Amino acid sequence: MSAVLFRSTNGQSPPVTLREAFLRGQAPDRGLYFPDRFPTLTAEQIAAFAGLPYAEIAFRVLSCYTEGMLPAADLKAICREAYNFEIPLEKVHDRVHVMRLDQGPTASFKDFAARMMARLMGRFLREDGRELTILTATSGDTGAAVAHAFHNVPGVRVVVLFPIDEVSLSQRKLMTTLGDNVRTVAIDGKFDDCQAMVKRAFADPALGHLPLSSANSINIGRLLPQSVYYFYAASRLARPGEPIVFSIPSGNFGDMMGAVVARQMGLPVRKIVASVNDNDAFPRFLSSGVYEKIVPSRNSVSNAMNVGHPSNLARLVALYGGRMDEQGTLHQQPNLAAMRRDLFSSSISDDRTRETIREVWNNYQLLLEAHGAVAWAGFQDWQKTEPLAGSPAVVLETANPAKFPEEIEQTIGFAPDVPPSMEATNKMPEHFDRMVADYEAFRSYLLAHLSPS
Ligand SMILES: *Cc1c(COP(=O)(O)O)cnc(C)c1O
Repeated sequence: MSAVLFRSTNGQSPPVTLREAFLRGQAPDRGLYFPDRFPTLTAEQIAAFAGLPYAEIAFRVLSCYTEGMLPAADLKAICREAYNFEIPLEKVHDRVHVMRLDQGPTASFKDFAARMMARLMGRFLREDGRELTILTATSGDTGAAVAHAFHNVPGVRVVVLFPIDEVSLSQRKLMTTLGDNVRTVAIDGKFDDCQAMVKRAFADPALGHLPLSSANSINIGRLLPQSVYYFYAASRLARPGEPIVFSIPSGNFGDMMGAVVARQMGLPVRKIVASVNDNDAFPRFLSSGVYEKIVPSRNSVSNAMNVGHPSNLARLVALYGGRMDEQGTLHQQPNLAAMRRDLFSSSISDDRTRETIREVWNNYQLLLEAHGAVAWAGFQDWQKTEPLAGSPAVVLETANPAKFPEEIEQTIGFAPDVPPSMEATNKMPEHFDRMVADYEAFRSYLLAHLSPS
């Protein structure tokens, strides 16, 4: 079969190979790349996953897309190296489980995508004899995952901007203790300021000679690896051919699109529950058909999900036959009835998030942090609409509670255990630069530190 090509959701740029989609990030027409067809796995191929380790499942899923891009043996080696940590599936009750995606080096699910992306990008750059600087703004988890994944990758430099007062100390240390090719800059401002500075840098002709890339969450190279853990969970919990339910704490909807991709590839999925915090543009759209993004985005305890307009909705809408541009304007309605059949979404307040952390701890001695608690509460909301009736179900926990010790202690009265990797990091010295939220200053900084010598 011929290689899968990637089309822009805006429909104005030509289709490209995965390699090109990957190195570009965004399409020239500002749309998002998405496969023009989905390779499918047969029921037998999926059933065979039951006996395989995670890295092997990752290899079998991702190799559907990498034909002609890299040899199978190399992809296999990359999968083994990237996925060398545990993915616990903890039973809660009946066939309901929590999948902990928080055991990677920076204790959030963003490690799954960042570690694959860094290895593939490092390889392409080496092949092309090129160098690249990854410039990224973070509210916490992305910066840490990207910095760790690209640390000491030859040919790559990393600059991470973070808002000095909006990142927890544990989150910060995961970025500022690395050094080498990783620079971190604390901005006296908000996350929005950091993001605006990064966007201006990409558009700045004075920096045109610097090879900058964003590695941001809309890159298809981050999305595809996020389909693998859905296959993995089903391989452990569902019988061959048996549909499974997933509840996913959602911000930019990249994680949730991973589940959609898995279903398109043949995984039997009964329902995808997209659980959000107070940023409720999607659940409102799903029920009313009217899309209104939230500007500015609302703050909440699940801070990695404070997204007023989830970029990945453009991909979801395209899949259901509609068209949404990057501003969130709907040019064509998707098939809402089909979306409602496949998806459920509800919005969870901060009060309810904290209540859920307490409730799950008291009832099951299971510790969730705020993002996982949003997914749990959303799953409960879905069950009020349809009985679970014995289906296997998985609620995703996307961060380790130890990243938010103060919040957890206030909610349930004790601080969470710190995993060994974070304990070591917490003791290391930090190095970061500090800057006011001023673009001119930032430009001078980039010119001083990134210009070829
Ligand atoms: C980024 C993040 C999310 C949201 O993931 P999206 O793909 O943006 O929907 C949820 N939980 C945690 C802990 C995160 O870091």
